[in-house]
Amino acid sequence: MKTDTIAAIATGMSNSGIGIVRISGEEAFSVIDSIFRNRKGERVSLSLAQSHTVHYGYIYDGDEKVDEALVIIMKGPHSYTAEDTVEIDCHGGVLMVRRILETVLHAGARTAEPGEFTKRAFLNGRLDLSQAEAVADVIHATNEYALKSSVSQLSGSVSNKIKELRSQILYQIAFIESALDDPEHISLDGYGSQLMDALAPMIDEARKLLLSADDGRVMSEGVKTVILGKPNAGKSSLMNVLLGEERAIVTEVAGTTRDTLEEHIYLQGISLNVVDTAGIRDTEDVVEKIGVDRALKAARDADLIIYVVDGSRPLDESDREIMDFIRGRKTIVLLNKSDLDLEVGTEELEQLCSHKVIPVSAKEEQGIELLEQEIKKLFYHGDLSFNDQVYITNARHKEALEQCLESLLMVKGSVEDSMPEDFYSIDLMNAYEQLGFIIGESVDDDVVNEIFAKFCMGK
Ligand code: GDP
Repeated sequence: MKTDTIAAIATGMSNSGIGIVRISGEEAFSVIDSIFRNRKGERVSLSLAQSHTVHYGYIYDGDEKVDEALVIIMKGPHSYTAEDTVEIDCHGGVLMVRRILETVLHAGARTAEPGEFTKRAFLNGRLDLSQAEAVADVIHATNEYALKSSVSQLSGSVSNKIKELRSQILYQIAFIESALDDPEHISLDGYGSQLMDALAPMIDEARKLLLSADDGRVMSEGVKTVILGKPNAGKSSLMNVLLGEERAIVTEVAGTTRDTLEEHIYLQGISLNVVDTAGIRDTEDVVEKIGVDRALKAARDADLIIYVVDGSRPLDESDREIMDFIRGRKTIVLLNKSDLDLEVGTEELEQLCSHKVIPVSAKEEQGIELLEQEIKKLFYHGDLSFNDQVYITNARHKEALEQCLESLLMVKGSVEDSMPEDFYSIDLMNAYEQLGFIIGESVDDDVVNEIFAKFCMGK
């Protein structure tokens, strides 16, 4: 199939040392041949050059010398798009890079759509869909965990799991279909219990992958964190320590942090999206009540609650209210103001809250490292060491997996109800198809277009 030749600026749109314009498609080499000259100003044909070589020379627009450049030649299928590809490294001023792109467009290429290079890599079979999606995730990763997980997805970790599960399902479909086609030679006697044995690990695997999606979301979007505690417990002070600067306003008057603030904190490789809220307490104050409601509402769907206890004052009704609220929720309790004489003991608090309690002093910045370690433990089971753990970080993948699991459970139900075998294969087929969506088999064009439209230009 003949494809048109696309071009785009592959580097960021700000002045920098080097800018790259990328060209891909059947005419990529004739485009570069028409605008490239060597150091002596002579036309040379880079289409004759060996693949994966770099050439020094100049880019010309007609007779006008535009810039000095290094040109990289990659012949398909050994390139990102699997097509003939040229990269022009030029001076990285925004104007210059645009000028080079214009020159390339004059020479016959057309502007690439966002994500079109990666889309071609997918359409040409060099990447499957989940790998192609990982390319965007690698670029947009906001923390080390997200980055590591996307790199692993790009190298095929998610695809491999999905393909493995798919082939197990396909085996069963093929078996049923052949037996139905050729009952004389292939018997389905006792097949029900055989299928039940085979289904159990498949269902387990689908469940396991789905469970990883929670951690996966947290990993790619950050941990939605809410700091709770009665007024003056030290919530704003803690925020400031975590942020490393005085951003929230710290005051001695109870109840001044009335509105909610959301801050993105980058902690030892983890992103926390912290919603700082007004303290929880019974109050007639309307404005503060709004803050309190917001705090509870925000805390209800938070990934993590940090409950700050003012250790210098005895526990009171507000604390008890919070303790009721945090029961069964992912919470770290901080016994704050531990630089002062404490009215509350760590063990006492641990028993009351049934959560890990860490003594800290927001004022003296003590105990904060322990808090960071605890967050890592809660969300990433410690260090950046999830080598063989595969995380589902993409909502589209999660949805397909949910459908797949549902179909597998239907198969299980049909076997239990001793339904005819062709019932099994309908649901097995559904499960198989859903997994296919993840890696991009039998996906509608508009889904594919939508996925790549979210990419940045030049990728
Ligand atoms: P919030 O209402 O929960 O946000 O509390 P703030 O962060 O505004 O703190 C209330 C008061 O407690 C301020 O005067 C802080 O300086 C003080 N404070 C906060 N943390 C500590 C701490 O660890 N030790 C001591 N001694 N005072 C603290």
